[in-house]
Amino acid sequence: MPDFLNKLYIGGEWRDGDNGKVFDVLNPADETVLTTVADGTVEDAMACLDAAESAFPSWAARSPRERGEVLRRAFDIYMERIEDIARLITLENGKAGADAIGEAKYAGEFFRWYAEEAVRSVGYLGMAPSSGARLMVQQKPAGIAVLVTPWNYPAAMGTRKIGPALAAGCTVVVKPASETPLTMLALVPILEEAGVPPGVINILPSRSSGAVVGAMLADRRVRVVSFTGSTEVGRKLLHAAADNVVKPAMELGGNAPFIVCHDADVEAAAEGLMVAKMRNLGEACTAANRIYVHENLEEPFVDAFTAKMAKLKMGDGLKTGTDVGALVNAETRDKIDHFVRDAVQKGAKVKLGGIRPNGPGFFYPPTVLAEVPDNAECLRDEIFGPVAAIQTFSDENEIIERANDTEYGLVAYVYTGDMSRGLRISEQLEFGMIGLNRGLVSDPAAPFGGVKQSGLGREGGKEGLLEFQETQYISAEW
Ligand code: NAD
Repeated sequence: MPDFLNKLYIGGEWRDGDNGKVFDVLNPADETVLTTVADGTVEDAMACLDAAESAFPSWAARSPRERGEVLRRAFDIYMERIEDIARLITLENGKAGADAIGEAKYAGEFFRWYAEEAVRSVGYLGMAPSSGARLMVQQKPAGIAVLVTPWNYPAAMGTRKIGPALAAGCTVVVKPASETPLTMLALVPILEEAGVPPGVINILPSRSSGAVVGAMLADRRVRVVSFTGSTEVGRKLLHAAADNVVKPAMELGGNAPFIVCHDADVEAAAEGLMVAKMRNLGEACTAANRIYVHENLEEPFVDAFTAKMAKLKMGDGLKTGTDVGALVNAETRDKIDHFVRDAVQKGAKVKLGGIRPNGPGFFYPPTVLAEVPDNAECLRDEIFGPVAAIQTFSDENEIIERANDTEYGLVAYVYTGDMSRGLRISEQLEFGMIGLNRGLVSDPAAPFGGVKQSGLGREGGKEGLLEFQETQYISAEW
């Protein structure tokens, strides 16, 4: 493990924390300590803001093309090192090699996409209808952005924010999840080599998330807070952002329905669910959480899906042939175990898995539950693991209502052989994203995000850039 991976990165320098304290980062596959990392303090957070403040004027003044070219170089260098990044993701997060390389590629694409989008930020010129004054409208960098990321995608949840922020001309402070800070720190040499000047990006691992993020949001220099994580923490940050009217972008929790209509291709739907449920071993806000199969297809669908799940091999994510790696920590594993026990105790039938292995390592096997009763806790809360909870339905209108019966609204999936049915259902679903005959919606070129308690704003696409920009209008007498 390179030395710099245990430090803070502030103003272009690697530093120990202000109070000299460190915290452990574990390997979830065997529970050993991978390394210790400096534990950032409020004083360190203020040093990050000082650095971001002094770097801001010159970075914001660079031409969009120059900023785009820095990001494009970052993409090229990143792609040369992608295997190392993926390995680090597996080491600190536990996910299997294929999931890690999948994440690493997705993460890198945000440098390329926003290298291209940096130069497509256009304004417009118009004439005021009554006064005849000229209206000049342009986008400007919003200022210093605080980026707070979760552990489930240690690289992608960072680059999905860093790419657009740097493209827009913002300077940033990143607070990575304390379970997985190493991948974010490992991006630094890539960004430095690509030409990102000191202070434009600062990285602050910390176990005192509430204190350091709270202190930054209380500082008037911060203009944007972009957060990915749980709805619970998102709400706290929205409260904190309100005091200084900081622009929020919130990517929060989900509870995705996966609907298989009576006319769906069973094999395609089962394959789609493998992706929607098992990508990242279910540790995804986009993971299918409530699976609704038309009653006529229940048996063939459950059989086809269970057969695919049974082929997956669980083990250390670094070993070749592993499909399902370790969960990030004991808490996540225990919560999943609780959901399964609760559902079974209430009447669900275990088709596969359902037994928590002994350690070491935070493992839980691919599990299929059929006939899950409505009062099972796993239908209300995010499972965040490799457990598929299946129910049936008989009527299209009924299923739309059941699918919408959640406080969340991130993503929903629909499988049908009839595109007009698919679009009809999709339009009635109260979700920010719909996978129609697809088990995967994430794409750097598309606006990722949810409605209701799943968040505010969008990441990716052209929309992602707007989160880091402010619109300025000049009224001019010609
Ligand atoms: P979390 O909310 O516990 O933590 C996310 C980040 O916030 C971490 O960096 C954490 O250290 C920090 N944090 C925790 N408490 C804080 C506080 N009081 N003030 C400031 N920062 C604080 O989430 P997690 O467990 O890391 O991630 C899982 C959650 O993230 C799930 O709910 C999942 O659905 C969600 N998620 C959403 C998306 C999306 O795009 N919508 C993507 C990935 C994950």
